[in-house]
Amino acid sequence: MKNNKNKKIMVIIGTRPEAIKLAPVIKELRKDSNYTVIVCATAQHRDLLDQMLETFKIKVHYDFNLMSKNQSVAGFFQKALEEINKLMEKIKPDMTIVQGDTSTAAAGALASFYNKIPLAHVEAGLRSGDMKNPFPEEVNRILADNLSDLLFVPTEQSKKNLIKEGFGKSKIYVTGNTVIDTLKSNVKKLKKNKDLQCCTLFKKFKIILVTLHRRESFGKDMLNILKALKDIVKQNEKVLIIYPVHPNPNIQKAAQEILKHARIMLIKPLSYLDFLSLMMQSDLIITDSGGVQEEAPALKKYVIVARKKTERTEGIDKGCVFLSGPSRAKIVKSANEIIRNPKKFSRACKNIYGDGNASKKIAKNIACFFKKNSK
Ligand code: UDP
Repeated sequence: MKNNKNKKIMVIIGTRPEAIKLAPVIKELRKDSNYTVIVCATAQHRDLLDQMLETFKIKVHYDFNLMSKNQSVAGFFQKALEEINKLMEKIKPDMTIVQGDTSTAAAGALASFYNKIPLAHVEAGLRSGDMKNPFPEEVNRILADNLSDLLFVPTEQSKKNLIKEGFGKSKIYVTGNTVIDTLKSNVKKLKKNKDLQCCTLFKKFKIILVTLHRRESFGKDMLNILKALKDIVKQNEKVLIIYPVHPNPNIQKAAQEILKHARIMLIKPLSYLDFLSLMMQSDLIITDSGGVQEEAPALKKYVIVARKKTERTEGIDKGCVFLSGPSRAKIVKSANEIIRNPKKFSRACKNIYGDGNASKKIAKNIACFFKKNSK
């Protein structure tokens, strides 16, 4: 690399959260005329990804359209690795950026390594400490971290995780999570446009917002969680559950079967802005999502995390998240308590996952990396 000019940066995106979390990074990098930012989509989740690409106006240059019905983890990984590798051989980028813990991120990281292209991992350093929870994400992020030249970690805790594993401090940058950049700019927009969809439902009921999609919960654990939701509405006349159901057929079928109730609304996945607006107006959130665990505390919303393990421990430490696991009894007990004593649980956990400037810090450090390596 001779200088900082005319660098090709390849950004790889596969799923909804990657689009949400990389949108502000792409925007920031595009401000620098030294860079050509090339966006490549594996489309690991076709519809959910497209919804977000449109919302954030992310122009995709290469779309592999790899999602297939009943795709296996290994089958998808193999196809993604092959396609990304071919593209890297063709366009020879100066840097690759992957985000998070998806199979897309892992395949992108490995392809980058094989092609000797410097790799930046956004949202590095998260660890649940259990290879099987979340599955296969814990292994995906360990792989991406180990192959990275730049590790953009969201919190001091994620930095500690990496140092404990022997990573050199010089590669680690605490930036905050880019999900908060996206959240903050869109909350501003919603408030400015007075776009919060306030309706009589929200005044009449206590709203519990639900999202569930983790692969490791499919089967018995998922059934327990769904049964807990039904128990909660039965035990609380004033509760309305709104649940945008993930399109995965394993979840669709179970949710439709178990959650038949007048006060449970099963709806399609929402656009980012509608979902954000709903989060802001809800009284409690029950989820197994990574991103929602980060967003909810920034909105002062209490979260029950229906997973056995979480890599986002900061929320638990600050007292704004409860890790219930897939236990029907624990979910019902904690939800009842929170709904009935809301003041006790409305803690301000504002900046635990970032201050909204993560993308700026990431872009600054990428520029430094190019400068340093051009000498
Ligand atoms: N989200 C959304 N619409 C929905 C549900 C979630 O836009 O109907 C957003 C949410 O705000 C968060 C992200 O999707 O930023 C989380 O994605 P997901 O739970 O699929 O993945 P994870 O974060 O667990 O990797």
